[in-house]
Amino acid sequence: MNMLRRTLATASLALAGLGSIAASAQAQDYPTRNITMIVPFAAGGPTDIIARIVTAEMAKTLGQNIIIENVVGAGGTTATTRAARANPDGYTLITGHMGTHAAAVPLYPKLAYHPEKDFEPVALLAGTPILILAKKDFPAKDLKEFVSYVKANTDKMNMAHAGVGSVSYSSCELLSSVLEIKPIGVPFNGTGPAMNALVGGQVDYMCDQIVNAVPQINGGTIKAYAVATPERNASLPNLPTTTEGGLPKYQVSAWNAIFAPKGTPAPILAKLNAAAAKALDDENVRKRLLDLGSDIPKMEGRSQAALAELVKAEVVKWSAVLKPAAN
Ligand code: ASP
Repeated sequence: MNMLRRTLATASLALAGLGSIAASAQAQDYPTRNITMIVPFAAGGPTDIIARIVTAEMAKTLGQNIIIENVVGAGGTTATTRAARANPDGYTLITGHMGTHAAAVPLYPKLAYHPEKDFEPVALLAGTPILILAKKDFPAKDLKEFVSYVKANTDKMNMAHAGVGSVSYSSCELLSSVLEIKPIGVPFNGTGPAMNALVGGQVDYMCDQIVNAVPQINGGTIKAYAVATPERNASLPNLPTTTEGGLPKYQVSAWNAIFAPKGTPAPILAKLNAAAAKALDDENVRKRLLDLGSDIPKMEGRSQAALAELVKAEVVKWSAVLKPAAN
């Protein structure tokens, strides 16, 4: 009996050894096939746009295709749950953001994942200032008038967002709490479709990441009242900051980043991180991201450790901002 047990133990040790040799060989060869990048919102929104710009360049470095899969629902949390449960082999990744990997925590008490415990941070891709946007014929010429109008008409205001927990939802929740208003929220599967509704005049206003708004603002199909950052944005030099517009309390900026399921081997994460950092130095990638108003992370912000720190801080920050509103 003892002998049998010993033999079994030796055999299982040998198997474990083989397993780890196989895993490290796998990590060395990675990637040997297509990688799936889950985008937790509809095509055409900021997350989708940023993921497509950066992963197209990462794919060149990695020598494999990166296939974007838009998986929508529940403010991005449906897709993020799926990504958390995916095989941690580097072939399923997610481009998450300040919503899926921070603000969703206080908003969903039964969230099926935790941004820190169930994911490996891979790379921060872009910072994205938040803009206050409205339909073209919204009856306010500047931020002061916008504030008076939404305050006076709060129960009639349709505010578009990308689902509870999304950046647009959380950013406008913050605006509502600063202005002490309660607009009607109109959810979409992403701010790509929400933007279409804003252009079509079916909704009144929206708070969103700058990325899909710049072409619309320049084309005059929507109105922009302010950028909620301390400085103006180079892509929209005529747009005042919230401070200039008389609303200094409203400061908010978001970000997009790549995450892998917990347990993805460190050498694979390192390869992905290096490919993302290289993509962010590519001239064409930089131009496209900057033209759309996003901030490109500086060297010190590009490590996995820096992203881990950011997520940690953002979960704490948004938990404090949104808990009172959610209760
Ligand atoms: N910007 C969106 C949000 O509000 C999502 C998207 O990228 O479509 O979270």
